[in-house]
Amino acid sequence: MADFSLQRKRMVEEQIAARGVRDKNVLRAMEKVHRHKFVPADLRGRAYSDSPLPIGAGQTISQPYIVACMIEALAIKPGDKALEIGAGSGYAAAVLAELADEVYAIECISALAEMATWNLQAAGYTNVHMLHADGTKGWSEHAPFDAILVSAGAPGVPESLKTQLAPGGRMVIPIGTSMMYQKLVCVTRQKDGSFAQHDLTDVRFVPLVGEEGWRPDGV
Ligand code: SAH
Repeated sequence: MADFSLQRKRMVEEQIAARGVRDKNVLRAMEKVHRHKFVPADLRGRAYSDSPLPIGAGQTISQPYIVACMIEALAIKPGDKALEIGAGSGYAAAVLAELADEVYAIECISALAEMATWNLQAAGYTNVHMLHADGTKGWSEHAPFDAILVSAGAPGVPESLKTQLAPGGRMVIPIGTSMMYQKLVCVTRQKDGSFAQHDLTDVRFVPLVGEEGWRPDGV
């Protein structure tokens, strides 16, 4: 039987803290969430490796370091309400659920939305609410959000997501003119309602496909 808890500890030390993620709460959450419960059974042995892994339907669970880096930039505080676009396996939503009070997660592929719901339930999370829909429109019934994590690469920041960000709220989103390469960007809504933006790092995400994202044919 593999010692997943030792593998998780190593993942946090060698892949995440060593590369500059400092937020103790994020490191603790990454050490706590059982990533092996969010990957397909035949890939469990590689759950804590330093890479993305396939989760079916042509999609991937992101590399642990990138998840930590994105979530650290969101600067989540207890009491916050978070939204994730692109729930995939449900893993990043679980990490968010360790830090925020409530997490709303949207996934556009129904088989993955079901899998994420199942994985989160099996792992014991009761504060994640899943919706099968086009997440580029956000989830207006539950807005505004203190933190928005976009886990797929977009051609630009969807207007609907900007309007659903609370004053002082943060959004982390991969933005790129190609469907395969992006810059990870942090967008902050100032108290006066204006938006500030800064770049974090270069990334490769699967495309955000939807009304305010890429069209399925890549235009
Ligand atoms: N955060 C996930 C990984 C996501 S991969 C995890 O931890 O496992 C990106 C996901 O975004 C894919 O599952 C893809 O289906 C989804 N996606 C792409 N466009 C979307 C959209 N418009 N709305 C919701 N989900 C979308």
